[in-house]
Amino acid sequence: MSKVTLKNLSHSYLKKQEKDSDFVLTNINIDWNDGGAYALLGPSGCGKTTLLNIISGLLVPTKGKVLFNDKDVTQLNPVQRDIAQIFQFPVIYDTMSVYDNLAFPLRNRALSESEIDSKVREIAEMLELTSTLNNRASGLTADGKQKISLGRGLVRSDVNVIMFDEPLTVIDPHLKWVLRSKLKELHQKIKRTMIYVTHDQTEALTFADQVVVMHEGRIVQTGTPIELFEKPKHTFVGHFIGSPGMNLLPCKITNGEINLAGQRIASNTSIKKTNFNKTQVGIRPEFINFSKDGIPAKVLKVNNIGRHKIVDVETGGGKIKILSNPQDEIPSGSAFVTFNQKYTYAYGDDWIIE
Ligand code: ATP
Repeated sequence: MSKVTLKNLSHSYLKKQEKDSDFVLTNINIDWNDGGAYALLGPSGCGKTTLLNIISGLLVPTKGKVLFNDKDVTQLNPVQRDIAQIFQFPVIYDTMSVYDNLAFPLRNRALSESEIDSKVREIAEMLELTSTLNNRASGLTADGKQKISLGRGLVRSDVNVIMFDEPLTVIDPHLKWVLRSKLKELHQKIKRTMIYVTHDQTEALTFADQVVVMHEGRIVQTGTPIELFEKPKHTFVGHFIGSPGMNLLPCKITNGEINLAGQRIASNTSIKKTNFNKTQVGIRPEFINFSKDGIPAKVLKVNNIGRHKIVDVETGGGKIKILSNPQDEIPSGSAFVTFNQKYTYAYGDDWIIE
């Protein structure tokens, strides 16, 4: 098992770099504890796979260092780093049985057959593969094959880190949630350092204790799922996480206060610096209520989605979304709304003003 540290890491796929945009990763710094469950979350193209491949040793970074337990492993290959990597698509031996697939990484390390047998059966039990152990892997569905891939990654107890690169892509939607909670359970049982890469916020937030949110090759925030939800440090985290995402409206900042279309808005941020090119007020749809007075608004549309109502509202500062309980009365036409001060933040050039 290993603690993982990334120091001042940047990467470019070009031989020569002349400008910032030549880099696909910029100044990545991470400290992950031994035995933790972490996720790298971000949209397609933000650099997640590149970063994962640098951690696993498939790629050497252009700048910076990778440390496992404070030892510099930047130049070591994946085998020397002792990591297990599970890819988007199953990597298995079709001609072997499920049992032999799971046993393969252990036989490679010359464990005794009795040790192999007990480990294979333990992992098969966890992944509900026991009844298929004697079947040929070729006959399994994509879900079944990916479970073997997961099992092959999880079966070794000598790995430093187990890494998952969008492992549920091929899994049937209705089985995704089963495997998602299974992985979380497996982490709690085997307590190895696990890194999970995904563009899917639900996967990241259910699996990881700490989520690293990436945007255009940079880390914009690292935090627990609750921290990312309650206090987005960057507007990208605000709108990428949550459904619908955070409302962001252009505002002015005068005398340390947010001014939205002529109205003072109380926020959770103490605003000292004010020289920004762009200033916005951010509030999640969950933290806005209809009220007797406050910000004048006009109700445009109510979408009843079962568990909630999503209400589209026009304010003097722009359009926003409000998430209401299904039983809440929604005013029609003119109304007033109030922002919960505890969850209202000011952003300057996309970063939270604190
Ligand atoms: P996805 O989920 O689509 O794989 P990602 O977040 O994992 O996206 P990367 O695959 O790491 O992102 O890609 C980051 C950037 O690096 C993208 O602009 C991509 O086009 C570029 N890139 C990735 N691999 C290579 C490569 N081998 N050569 C050149 N550019 C690459």
